[in-house]
Amino acid sequence: MHTYPVAKINLAAAQSNLARVKQLAPESQIIAVIKANAYGHGAIELAQALSASDAFAVARLSEALALREAANHHPIVVLEGVHSAEDLELATQHNLSLVFHHQSQLELLQASQLSKPLAFSWLMLETGMHRLGLTTAHAQQALTLFTPGSVGVMSHFANADERDDSRNTQQLEKTHNFALANNLTSSMANSAAILSISASHADWVRPGLMLYGISPFSETTAKDLKLKPVMTLSSKLIAVQQLQAGDQVGYGGDWIAQESLRIGIVSIGYGDGYSRHLSNIGTVLINGLLATVVGRVSMDMIAIDLSNNVDSAIGDEVILWGDPRLPVEHIAEQAGTIAYELVCQLTDRVVREYHYGES
Ligand SMILES: *Cc1c(COP(=O)(O)O)cnc(C)c1O
Repeated sequence: MHTYPVAKINLAAAQSNLARVKQLAPESQIIAVIKANAYGHGAIELAQALSASDAFAVARLSEALALREAANHHPIVVLEGVHSAEDLELATQHNLSLVFHHQSQLELLQASQLSKPLAFSWLMLETGMHRLGLTTAHAQQALTLFTPGSVGVMSHFANADERDDSRNTQQLEKTHNFALANNLTSSMANSAAILSISASHADWVRPGLMLYGISPFSETTAKDLKLKPVMTLSSKLIAVQQLQAGDQVGYGGDWIAQESLRIGIVSIGYGDGYSRHLSNIGTVLINGLLATVVGRVSMDMIAIDLSNNVDSAIGDEVILWGDPRLPVEHIAEQAGTIAYELVCQLTDRVVREYHYGES
């Protein structure tokens, strides 16, 4: 069976991006962030490909448990930590590294009688984002719950993608000072900070997006940052229609042919995670030429303008993003969103095909 759409995942490119992290932050250990199914790329496969990292991170306990076996004995950090005594015990059983970001989690720990010692843990310090994090005072108190050397401190930038933003310096200083005062290992940098704030690298860096060969900065693509896109999303042309001037296309008929032209119907839609915000504006690549989405994105299909593409025919491959001429960063801009969202929201209906292609 020829299944489509397909997201081709180049694991060699992911390994090359990991090497790029190492090159940028040679003194730091690397926590490869593979939450949300490795940003839509497939957590198990990416974990295997990125085994040269020093640890993995996911958001939730359920993600960590699903990964535990494939990850062998690799440390796995659970960024949101746990929220019940039962989950605390479960995490301990599976040797998961928990983040403690809220006082309630520390109370759980204090009240617990664990069957074995906790894996290396992290205190998440509030430094300016006001999402997850302990106050400095609470973090200070929390240290008494851990044996020395078994806990580190982390925090997360709210504006790392804004180069030279003074808020980054403030956040960094808070974390740095806490780590220094308490002689703790520390971690601050996500992809944007790894790429643009070398002072933030510290003991552990936490790259996510850049491992997938995607730029965290607006108006910059992977290539500018010496990263290699990992995912190429494609599907097939399943129909071609000859339109006359005045013909309407798709739901609502809000695209109307101004002259006679050919359009192609591509088997991909919002039911695959192709954003509906690309209605009437998205760009695709077919037989080496760019074409525009016409009409609304449907659940299973889009229509594209083939007026410059006389040779295209049913069965031809259509690339939605990932080709050098069609970086996902540009498609995200067209959709009015960030590339993080586009890759994360691909559904299970899109087959992931893994290869070690040219990196
Ligand atoms: C998701 C996440 C990261 C990775 O961020 P990128 O911008 O994808 O590099 C790092 N740290 C934390 C706490 C995260 O939640």
